[in-house]
Amino acid sequence: MPSGRTHDRITLWSLPIITGLSFGLVHSTHLTLFVSGGFLFGGLMFGPDLDINSRQFQRWGWFKWLWRPYQTSLHHRSFLSHGPIIGTALRLLYLLNWLAVLAVFGLIIDELLGLELSVLGFVASLWRSLSLHYQEVIALLVGIELGAMSHSLSDWSGSAYRRFKTKGLSSLLPQIKLQRRQRKSSGRSTSSKVVSPTSRRRTKK
Ligand SMILES: [Zn+2]
Repeated sequence: MPSGRTHDRITLWSLPIITGLSFGLVHSTHLTLFVSGGFLFGGLMFGPDLDINSRQFQRWGWFKWLWRPYQTSLHHRSFLSHGPIIGTALRLLYLLNWLAVLAVFGLIIDELLGLELSVLGFVASLWRSLSLHYQEVIALLVGIELGAMSHSLSDWSGSAYRRFKTKGLSSLLPQIKLQRRQRKSSGRSTSSKVVSPTSRRRTKK
């Protein structure tokens, strides 16, 4: 698994490629900015390694505690944190959950102290502007997912390279294929043991 520093370097070095590709696809500097911004955020702060005490986690500063329950409920490098789409989707849902908690907390304070903060009004206007700027939202989400995937891909290729160096090419074959092959060969050996002279006679008839 590459170190946090290497992950940061991969994110920064891939940024021009992601920017170039997205501009080539959407032909809009405005949307490309959102993709690139999302990519940086996904790679440096909102990536899969929020499931441990990582650089991404440290960058949340005062808000690090937000990710404590996430870390305790997920295994490091589990499919739910490092998997494609599911990892980012789950982290976004998790963060939205916290925002909902904060909104409810704000509502209670608003009610108790009569501050007229209009938390609901703020949430409604936020939702309205998000739905009006849905293209920017999609571009940002794509960027975040690409940033997270650049991390997961470098994790997987790093460990695959290490396995290849220590155990050779066979270690890169999917485990299921290997297990199936082992089962087949063990089945063959047991069936050859089962064939008794009488059964051989029976088949001859
Ligand atoms: Zn990782």
